[in-house]
Amino acid sequence: MALIVQKYGGTSVGSPERIKNVAQRVARFVTQGDRVVVVVSAMSGETNRLLALAKEIQPQPDPRELDVVLSTGEQVTIGLLCMALQTLGVAARSYTGGQARILTDDAFNKARISSIDGDAIRRDLEAGRVVVVAGFQGVDAAGNITTLGRGGSDTTGVALAAALQADECQIYTDVDGVYTTDPRIVSEARKLDRITFEEMLEMASLGSKVLQIRSVEFAGKYKVKLRVLSSFEEAGEGTLITVEEGKNMEEPIISGIAFSRDEAKLTVLGVPDCPGIAYQILGAVAEANIDVDMIIQNVGHDGATDFSFTVNRSEFDKAKAALEGVREHIGAREIQGDNKVCKVSAVGVGMRSHPGVASQMFRALAEEGINIRMISTSEIKISVVLDEKYLELAVRVLHRAFGLEAA
Ligand code: ASP
Ligand code: MG
Repeated sequence: MALIVQKYGGTSVGSPERIKNVAQRVARFVTQGDRVVVVVSAMSGETNRLLALAKEIQPQPDPRELDVVLSTGEQVTIGLLCMALQTLGVAARSYTGGQARILTDDAFNKARISSIDGDAIRRDLEAGRVVVVAGFQGVDAAGNITTLGRGGSDTTGVALAAALQADECQIYTDVDGVYTTDPRIVSEARKLDRITFEEMLEMASLGSKVLQIRSVEFAGKYKVKLRVLSSFEEAGEGTLITVEEGKNMEEPIISGIAFSRDEAKLTVLGVPDCPGIAYQILGAVAEANIDVDMIIQNVGHDGATDFSFTVNRSEFDKAKAALEGVREHIGAREIQGDNKVCKVSAVGVGMRSHPGVASQMFRALAEEGINIRMISTSEIKISVVLDEKYLELAVRVLHRAFGLEAA
């Protein structure tokens, strides 16, 4: 008998039929003798619909009221799923985030969970009931409804699994696991049986959309056993996300190729090469509340240097304006920008013990005549910024170069 937290995403509960299917799956676990806590997202498209509705009334919705509106999507699915379970003869009770005592800070629209008091849930489980909790939401200390940021139901699932010390947290979604890359781009992409938290974190932050990044961080921190599976397939082990690295020496060095289309690059040309310049440039960007990703400063010449960095494409204009605003003050000659770039990354813990991965990657790109615009590396990933038009080609070439299609 295990205690399992199962999280079902928006597509998995996207229609009454699908909600009934979820209920059937949950019922099978209950029949096996498992205790189950279910976390659900809103029906697919619902959160977007609610957001659009809010914006029709107020173009910049009041953050507190926006959370009141957005959190209703999940409130619908918890009730419907409990009804579906009851129809199957399975006792079930729904909980909103507040009822489940998921306490968060008061950062509306992007709140962070501070604690979960699982007592009521435990009592229900002991009484033989399935507990269905609304994902993506909580309450702050003053009792205001908060939401956890888009995709936040994953984090609710993992946080509940941690708080209840569940044996496993299963994330059910519309894919059957984590793949070596997006199968829509590389048809030979292969499902991974396992991947480490570190790799998953890189994959998630580099653009693989399977899990919300914060949920992976959370799972790594609290050692939650996390599994990604399909809610549309009966069998399958999905992908296990673990702390352990494979013991097998033959394990591939690279686990996956991640990419992100929405990148933009900014370059500050001819700034004085003196202390404090990086701080002044990036300070202006940080002040505008923009996250910076890759950063490169060139070797100085004649007392001046060039400085490039990337931001999310949606923040390109804002970042450019912020730089223009300080250009004279920092003594820069020119600000250049390019919002038609993308980022492609090779990720794998095997890199730590295998030198030469970077050169293998650069050779593969060179052979296809793909020009690299920027490079950044960490212990377990190498990222390159490329012209957007090379994205699909680069992903395919690297997938092949690292032998990822082979089992
Ligand atoms: N319904 C929310 C969203 O669409 C939360 C989630 O699905 O995880 O972002
Ligand atoms: Mg999701």
